[in-house]
Amino acid sequence: MSLRTPCVLCLTLLLSLPVQAFGPHGHQTVGGIADQLLAGSNTAKKVRAILGSNLQMAAVWADCAKGVGQAKVGAPFVYDGSGPYPECTYYENPASQKAMEDFVRRNATHCYANSSDEVCRHKSYHYTDVAIQRDHYAKGLAGTSDHDLISAMQACITVLQGAKSPAPFQIASKKEALRLLAHYLGDVHQPLHVVSIYLDAAGHAVDPDAAAGLDPKTSTKGGNTLLLGASKLHGLWDSIPGSLATDLLAGAGVAAARAVPASAGELAQWPTAWATDTVMSGKPALAGLSFGPKAANGSWPATAAAGYCKERAALQKQQIIKAGARLAELLRAIWP
Ligand SMILES: [Zn+2]
Repeated sequence: MSLRTPCVLCLTLLLSLPVQAFGPHGHQTVGGIADQLLAGSNTAKKVRAILGSNLQMAAVWADCAKGVGQAKVGAPFVYDGSGPYPECTYYENPASQKAMEDFVRRNATHCYANSSDEVCRHKSYHYTDVAIQRDHYAKGLAGTSDHDLISAMQACITVLQGAKSPAPFQIASKKEALRLLAHYLGDVHQPLHVVSIYLDAAGHAVDPDAAAGLDPKTSTKGGNTLLLGASKLHGLWDSIPGSLATDLLAGAGVAAARAVPASAGELAQWPTAWATDTVMSGKPALAGLSFGPKAANGSWPATAAAGYCKERAALQKQQIIKAGARLAELLRAIWP
């Protein structure tokens, strides 16, 4: 019990702040760092010409599009204004709402309440679920798919290079591809969007790549069914304190991003390499926890080791800086 205290304290602090105190979302910080790295360059001109905005604004678009849904199968796809972020108000006008509705209609079979990410397919573009036992990302591993985060990033790059959107993605324009990519670069650096733990009913880790294969009941859904106190683990890792975002956007982010090593190999392989990097560097997000038996509601209670909260803050900061650096690096490589 005492081991949990530091984290619970930190959580309480975080949760007691008003929503506005969180300031710009992590995705906007990633976009903002890239904007600053690219300032004054030919790449920045190209980005502005395509987006009509900067990367900081564009980086939330893919999450805002999650506010598009259907009342039932066959009903029209409509933006209902309940996107998860206040930053979405920028897109809450008829033309922008139509753009989000068109994107979801093309990239979903159905999207009604509680529909799975398989039928509301664009939601699956935000993550992959590589087991914590692996040391790399590769297509074919349990939790990966041809419509996961890595495949989505590769599809966006293909469109930005001037080719047609590869199936199963239906990306209509360079503007849409760039909006998506500015967001997915953040997601691929959020540990719980990439590395996953699979648990049996007793709360013991199982290996979904072992001979027995993947049992869907063991999926912890990117930490959405892991509870630390009353909080979903996924949400804790999505949130960053406003003070961190402010600090990074005020110059600390761009300075640190300049020290991030260049990505090796061919541009087409970068999404895979970045996912592998997150598989490895993101493991402490799950390895620092122990789990109790699965509850009737399908969740597992988690207990954090001492120091987990501090490690989380440090890892989030490191990952956001990497994401900003790599977003700029990628766009520079596409438009030198
Ligand atoms: Zn996302």
